[in-house]
Amino acid sequence: MFQRDGARLRQRTAKRTSVELPYENKIASYLKKQDVLPNETQHLLFVLTFFLFVSFIIIVLERNLPDPITIDTERLYPGRFVAERARNHIVNLTSIGPRIAGSYENEVLAVKFLTTTISNVIKTAHENHRIVLNITKHSGAFPLKFLDGMTNVYRNVQNVIVKVGPHRPTMYSLLLNCHFDTFVESPGGSDDGAGCAVMLEILRIITQSPKILKHSIVFLFNGAEENILQASHGFITQHPWAKKVQTFINLEACGSGGRELLFQAGPHNPWMLEVYAKSVPYPYASSLAQEIFESGIVPGDTDFRIFRDFGKISGVDFAWSKNGYVYHTKFDNVDQIPLGALQRTGDNILALTQGIVFEDHLSDPSMQETRGSLVFFDFLGAFVIRWPQYIASTINIASLITAGYSIYLNMQNARRSIKRWTYMRHVTMCVGVVIISWLASMFSCTLIALILTKLGKVMSWIIDNLQEVSSAWILHQMYCDAYAIVWMTILFLPIVLLIKNAERIINVIVGIFLIAIAVLILTPLGFPYSGDPLSPAPERFMIAHTQRQFYDADGSVRYSGTGYWLVDLDMNSPHSVESIVPEMAAATPTVRDCEKELYCGFPYLMPVTTFLWKTSWIPGPAPLISIPTKLEIISKTAKQHTINFTFNVTGPDHMSIILSPYKGINLEKWSVIDEKPLQGPMWNDRETYFIYYACASDCMPYTFSIELN
Ligand SMILES: [Zn+2]
Repeated sequence: MFQRDGARLRQRTAKRTSVELPYENKIASYLKKQDVLPNETQHLLFVLTFFLFVSFIIIVLERNLPDPITIDTERLYPGRFVAERARNHIVNLTSIGPRIAGSYENEVLAVKFLTTTISNVIKTAHENHRIVLNITKHSGAFPLKFLDGMTNVYRNVQNVIVKVGPHRPTMYSLLLNCHFDTFVESPGGSDDGAGCAVMLEILRIITQSPKILKHSIVFLFNGAEENILQASHGFITQHPWAKKVQTFINLEACGSGGRELLFQAGPHNPWMLEVYAKSVPYPYASSLAQEIFESGIVPGDTDFRIFRDFGKISGVDFAWSKNGYVYHTKFDNVDQIPLGALQRTGDNILALTQGIVFEDHLSDPSMQETRGSLVFFDFLGAFVIRWPQYIASTINIASLITAGYSIYLNMQNARRSIKRWTYMRHVTMCVGVVIISWLASMFSCTLIALILTKLGKVMSWIIDNLQEVSSAWILHQMYCDAYAIVWMTILFLPIVLLIKNAERIINVIVGIFLIAIAVLILTPLGFPYSGDPLSPAPERFMIAHTQRQFYDADGSVRYSGTGYWLVDLDMNSPHSVESIVPEMAAATPTVRDCEKELYCGFPYLMPVTTFLWKTSWIPGPAPLISIPTKLEIISKTAKQHTINFTFNVTGPDHMSIILSPYKGINLEKWSVIDEKPLQGPMWNDRETYFIYYACASDCMPYTFSIELN
């Protein structure tokens, strides 16, 4: 249908032109058209060159880190951030090993390292500063809408806090936050040892300088962030210094090194971005990242949320994101962190801190009253563009109007030769074709990925052939050569061909596709993991050695089993390692358990069933459980329409308690927090409630009561 109309259209147009224009004019208009409209090859070349150019700039920017200042050269740079000192702090902190809240490493050794280092800084500080070190323990509970939603209960989590200010009292403070605890198994080099190391070095520089601060700085080294944001909540809701905190800087990482991205700002205090734009030497910011982060697509969170939601203060959030492979793994050590990255982050955060505490923004009421969020981004690392939400909306609306007007103009021009309804019909068809081509490309990509995965080709090559190449250097060279071949094939060769003949585009694209498939199947490029100790890219597994016991209401055991619970964090797990770990062949999916049992009857420590629902089970021997978990009903009292239960829980320092009343019964109140219990996702038409409980020291049995309606 489309073709037939098109043919008719061409005929009609041709007829009209031949009547209206003499022969010479026709040639002239044809040539003119040739001048105005570039052909497809030129378009393609322009787009390719543009993307290549932008990619090149981004790669250069990403790799371009400042020269680090070392202890040997620091006397040449007075008042500057010394990257080597920060690195030494990371070495000392990571040498303790993984630091989980509640462990000896975190609660004793890490706290000792921090207090010793801070005490040494205080000894060398200039007399113009008043410095107070405070170590606190906090207990509390709060609802957290992160993941599937939970009620977060904590006991005795620790903070190491330093307040620096002038000798006269100050009205306002800037808060700098990092966390010294780590994810399970990780030495926490970048997450967040580096953040704490940067803060220790900034503390040294600020306190050694005689320059008197206009406002105080609170350095919060928090001891329970991976424990789901508990220590920051303890500080901001309970500590007396928190009341004067007017704004904050949070230092985080989801990768080791590169450029630290300002990825969250606000919700108010747009002046913070002004200070950032004016003072930092190497800006790198994106409010698009904030949109993505706030949308919940990324299952991660930072203390930014706690300061914003529970402290009601605005601030900025920074994170490294390069080399995310090592994030939350045992490979997150100091060797993965380039010294230049520490220098860059240190220079930026020091400049931002100084820009805030040596200026009047914090005490200026007109600054504090400015509200509203900002749209911000850096322009190729040179400067920061920022404008308020209303200007962003204006620009968006103006773009819409311009685009609409341009379509209208095109339509008016075309109407000289085509009827309006014909034009509209064709435009609608074109829109349809574009959408269908998008869908088709998404579908074909998914199909190819599925076929390749099912074929197992991606995996088989490396397992069969890795033994043949023993030298890491040769392997590295092979990768480089492979990249060179691919780029030559998909980019430079087509350009050479296309310049000569635009109609070869389709053939070349089909060729590229076939070569890409061959490259994926026959070369190591399709293999996503690497065991190279210098740049590891591990496949992630979460395996819990588990004992499960299901009880009936009368207390009798209805099921008991032991084995290994595997949570798939990767599309290739669990069967990708079958040739190395033959036991994986026995792994069976747990879909049936999820239908029958609350939270699949597995020990989810976090409410993540909607994220991590693909899990497997391998029957095995019983684990050694040194501290058994015990849940007792202490009391049960019934009133007219309500029943009260009081429970007592004893067990290890980390526990999750999941409640699900029968259909038609509601959990109205509980003693866990004062407000209404935060509900999780529905399960078999029943409400669910998740309590995450963590105790860092001096643990007591946990007692709570619920009121059912
Ligand atoms: Zn972190």
